[in-house]
Amino acid sequence: MTDRYGRTIDYARISITDRCNLRCVYCMPAEGVPKLERSEVLSYEMLLAICRAIVSLGIVKFKVTGGEPLVRKGCTGFVAALKRIAGVRSVTLTTNGLLLPGAAAALRAAGLDGVNISLDTLDPARYQALTRGGRLEDALEGVRSALKAGLRVKLNCVPTAGSTPDDLVRLAAIAQAHPVEVRFIELMPVGPGAHLGGIPNRQVADWLEAVYGPAEPYHGRLGNGPARYVHFPGFIGRIGWISAMGDCFCGHCNRIRLSSAGRLAPCLCLPESIDLRPALAAGETALCAAIREGILSKPARHHFEPGVEAGGRTMSQVGG
Ligand code: SAM
Ligand code: SF4
Repeated sequence: MTDRYGRTIDYARISITDRCNLRCVYCMPAEGVPKLERSEVLSYEMLLAICRAIVSLGIVKFKVTGGEPLVRKGCTGFVAALKRIAGVRSVTLTTNGLLLPGAAAALRAAGLDGVNISLDTLDPARYQALTRGGRLEDALEGVRSALKAGLRVKLNCVPTAGSTPDDLVRLAAIAQAHPVEVRFIELMPVGPGAHLGGIPNRQVADWLEAVYGPAEPYHGRLGNGPARYVHFPGFIGRIGWISAMGDCFCGHCNRIRLSSAGRLAPCLCLPESIDLRPALAAGETALCAAIREGILSKPARHHFEPGVEAGGRTMSQVGG
């Protein structure tokens, strides 16, 4: 469906849990965020009922997210059920990768179209510091298992103060040797991300070009979102830029977000969200009307300001 600004909304990010097995410094405070009660988290049946209503409004591409989606039991079954909804065109998943070795093959068999894996550094000590305890090798094993299972893989890196040119150049080199997209996401002032220093993508691009030479724009379509892709000579995969701060892409925004508590967020920058539970209980017509209302309340653009916390929640609560 089309929103008030003429944008086609065809993509929904569905968070299935607010829990996570990491505590990335830009996403969650060290102590974590207050957890939802079990009774507050929507069952898979409820999530699927909302997804069916979303599809009936013309939204056909889904990203399963969290928190960490793979910590919720039954994630693979949910992916399979989502894929079976008539009209759904793609279902992808975003994960920190730690639990992928035990899940990638089953996810592929369930029909998952691709996986985004968060990977901010190739330095084991920095990975452990950034994720507050994660092991780089576990994430890399996750990447390997996804490739082995035949999943399309994108790696997401959020450069922050302390990311070195050398580290990011090595991360980009994964796309030199493998058929993956390595994407650099500018830090957004959401949750603790507001109080950290980010690195503009323009700076990262300069670092990469100094080593790999001038990049060529890639005009093909890859994925659901605002990433702009380039190709470096000799690379098998591509490099993607998601520059929410340096190059506002809101004019092409195509998405809505559903939290695991059933709240529809029209925009990352706004604290407002719509509780879909009452409409879900009232039936399909009410549900579609509530989702439509959410889409029509999307703002023209975000109003992120560096250092000013936006949205009133963490990315782990809204799904990134
Ligand atoms: N746990 C999964 C993961 O890490 O991919 C899914 C949820 S996570 C909230 C989704 C994405 O949000 C990750 O790629 C993460 O890097 C990104 N993210 C979290 N906080 C961010 C921030 N303040 N600015 C930009 N991206 C952020
Ligand atoms: Fe967890 Fe993903 Fe947030 Fe890291 S970015 S704390 S892995 S939800």
